[in-house]
Amino acid sequence: MGPLNLPRKVSVLGSTGSIGMSTLDLFTQAKVDVEVVALTAGRNVARLAEQALRWRPQIAVIEDEDGLAELRERLKGSGIRTAAGAAAVRDVAAADAQWVMSAIVGFAGLAPTLAAARAGAVIALANKESLVCAGPSLLRTAKLAGGAVVPVDSEHSAIFQVLDPAIAESVSRLILTSSGGPFRNATRDEMAAATPERALAHPNFSMGAKISIDSATMMNKGLEVIEAAYLFSMPPERIEVLVHPQQIIHSLVEYADGSTLAQLGPPDMRPPIACAFAWPDRLAWPAPKLDLVTAGPLTFQHPDPQKFPALSIAKHALAAGGGAPAAMNAANERAVSAFLDRRIGFLDIPNVVAETLERMDRSGVTRPNAEDAVESARRTDAEARRVADDVVTRLVPA
Ligand code: NAD
Ligand code: MG
Repeated sequence: MGPLNLPRKVSVLGSTGSIGMSTLDLFTQAKVDVEVVALTAGRNVARLAEQALRWRPQIAVIEDEDGLAELRERLKGSGIRTAAGAAAVRDVAAADAQWVMSAIVGFAGLAPTLAAARAGAVIALANKESLVCAGPSLLRTAKLAGGAVVPVDSEHSAIFQVLDPAIAESVSRLILTSSGGPFRNATRDEMAAATPERALAHPNFSMGAKISIDSATMMNKGLEVIEAAYLFSMPPERIEVLVHPQQIIHSLVEYADGSTLAQLGPPDMRPPIACAFAWPDRLAWPAPKLDLVTAGPLTFQHPDPQKFPALSIAKHALAAGGGAPAAMNAANERAVSAFLDRRIGFLDIPNVVAETLERMDRSGVTRPNAEDAVESARRTDAEARRVADDVVTRLVPA
């Protein structure tokens, strides 16, 4: 095997999070020779500074401006530049990295991801919210600039690996698998009484708080259905979700001739990150290997629509089009944060999202608009946040 054609100049947006740390860990374990252009974080100054001293980026950026003084202090004498604020995160995302890990959580990831796309970088996309809010325009931007979007979300990485684009029209169905989250076997009553601690306890993965709650409501799978629809140009009715608690099969592609191709791996985010890093090559590293004998039986079931209404909310938002997916995402971000602050109950989360969408629908959010898609996603996001906060306030007993 000849030398791999790996990217050299890389940036990691959201380096202090679960995916960001897995990315840097993969670089360490694979002993790859990378030059880090930028590392960015939201608030965790101490971890960002520690990573910067280890990886020597040209610049370290903290979104929270209150953290800048401490970041400067911690990096004093290192020669590493520092900056703060959302605009600085976006600007460094457009710096000259060939490969950008997009691992900021939520709508906040959209502007930096788009900036990296405009700069023509290969984007390893973990930040699914940016695709949900502005998928077609993000993909178009990356393509026009000569870059690419390679999915990191394990389900989409799986499909990306087994879907041959040359015969995409022969695909009859995409099947996304889901762990079922911490409430797979819970009753609705148990879910109604769930605390943030209980909802955060994901069975197989340690992830950021927001995606952990999304996994518990299955809004994560709803976001992923929309992500898959945009990434693979697939209509909502040809995307199915199956609960597969062992999380060994990460997703499947069914072809018209009756063949179904699956991608398997241990429940670990580093293999999909490695795939996005080396694509179209394969990175050799001491990866945890799958042992099918000890993995035990692989089981599958349909998700329970009564317990997980978020799935059908997401499919409706996708079918409605226009700004509906962006509004859904914004309402979900606000509802998750209200739940984590113990202001609303667990089952209120999908209710807040559904009610926000209903109210926004009356004001025409699903109408397609001719203006700049990203600007319109931004406005829809802001408006949906206001509406969702209002719905939350009405739910909270005075
Ligand atoms: P996390 O909360 O652990 O990390 C988020 C990162 O973004 C941190 O570095 C944080 O400092 C930074 N950040 C937060 N708010 C910010 C803001 N306003 N501006 C700039 N930076 C900000 O989250 P995570 O679990 O690593 O997930 C990151 C993204 O990847 C999410 O979109 C998630 O859906 C997706 N994803 C995660 C996993 C997983 O296993 N963790 C799997 C698939 C997809
Ligand atoms: Mg996923």
